[in-house]
Amino acid sequence: MVKNIALLGSTGSIGVQTLEVIDEHKDDFIVKIISGHKNVQRLLEQALKYKPEYVIVTHEKSYEILKKELSTFPIKVILGEKEIAKVYQEVNLDLVIGAISGAAGIPSVLAALELGIDVALANKETIVVAGNIVKRIQKKTGAKIIPVDSEHSAIFQCLTGHEKAVSGLLITASGGPFRNLSPDELHKVTPEMALNHPTWSMGNKITIDSATLMNKGLEIIEAHFLFNVAYENINAIIHPQSIVHSMVLYGDGSVLAHLGLPDMRVPIQYALTYPERKNNSFPKLDLLKIKELEFLKPDTEKFPCLNLAYRAGKIGYTMPAVLNAANEIAVELFMQKDIGFMDIPKLVEEVMQKHEIVKEFDFKDLLEVDKWARIECKKIKDRM
Ligand code: NDP
Ligand code: MG
Repeated sequence: MVKNIALLGSTGSIGVQTLEVIDEHKDDFIVKIISGHKNVQRLLEQALKYKPEYVIVTHEKSYEILKKELSTFPIKVILGEKEIAKVYQEVNLDLVIGAISGAAGIPSVLAALELGIDVALANKETIVVAGNIVKRIQKKTGAKIIPVDSEHSAIFQCLTGHEKAVSGLLITASGGPFRNLSPDELHKVTPEMALNHPTWSMGNKITIDSATLMNKGLEIIEAHFLFNVAYENINAIIHPQSIVHSMVLYGDGSVLAHLGLPDMRVPIQYALTYPERKNNSFPKLDLLKIKELEFLKPDTEKFPCLNLAYRAGKIGYTMPAVLNAANEIAVELFMQKDIGFMDIPKLVEEVMQKHEIVKEFDFKDLLEVDKWARIECKKIKDRM
């Protein structure tokens, strides 16, 4: 079956790799919608190559340029996501790929789920911030989420219809570039150092999150919602080679693992072709070359973000949204060199401490909480 797809965040790291997967399977997909924010040049190139019906752009300056450049093509350029549900319906979509970074990626995913359109989800923030709302919508419309995040894709592929016998999940983490630094050295880490990830090549925000282990924390919350496993039974394990992408533990003592090279195109392809599994020409794993696979306990003293995420997840309700928003701002401040590396967990923790959880909320309320946490985070930084 040929799938009509929308690729949201097509100019990013996941977006570009998704298009590489599509190039491998040209007859299986029609790109109907692409979207970007500030990278006009790349978005323009993609528009000319894939000839989508719509290009959605969320940055005003980019919009003006694209509208002019694409005026002679039968491609509609739209500013902002207000009309996104209408556009989804017009192009008769089979799958939306949610690959925008940060909380900005949530509304377009929720809009797809509301319409009963399946989503291949890279944007973990959707689940972390709005997990309860996502579940509510899925119950109503039956839309599926197929995980793109490599760990969750691994778990998804290791769940072989024996979900009731699952006793736990082991989520692997590379440990980031600073695994072996002393606490003193961690205080001196710069954005340039943090952006140099040992095994994965990713967008800036998630690369910093990998260095603080916040990415693993967000993934634990993501796994809790996606696979209905209690936090007590989800553990993170450091695996520097990034070959085992995660594991499912079963009550009979079996452990099922998914192995592969650290190449996001593999989980992206599985999410796109699901329920089918297809061949591709990407490099394949040779275990004789890798030789050793190590597994180590994460150091939560040096990397407090992991426990902050567990805490936010266990408290639940609006707390994961606060964790996410405060972290987005803290990472931004670190990238601008306004705060140090170890100030990231400090700021996030302080914002969490100030938050009074709300037990009944809709998406609009979550947006308010998100906004509050961002402002609070900046205020705390100003007092530092
Ligand atoms: P990038 O920073 O590389 O790309 C982000 C994409 O989102 C770009 O297309 C960017 O547009 C767009 N974007 C940024 N801000 C906005 C905004 N305010 N409104 C609309 N669009 C926006 O990120 P990644 O590709 O690395 O990550 C995307 C998502 O996937 C994240 O949620 C991340 O956690 C998740 N993920 C990524 C992995 C990876 O290997 N990269 C692995 C697992 C999950 P532009 O560039 O044009 O400004
Ligand atoms: Mg991941």
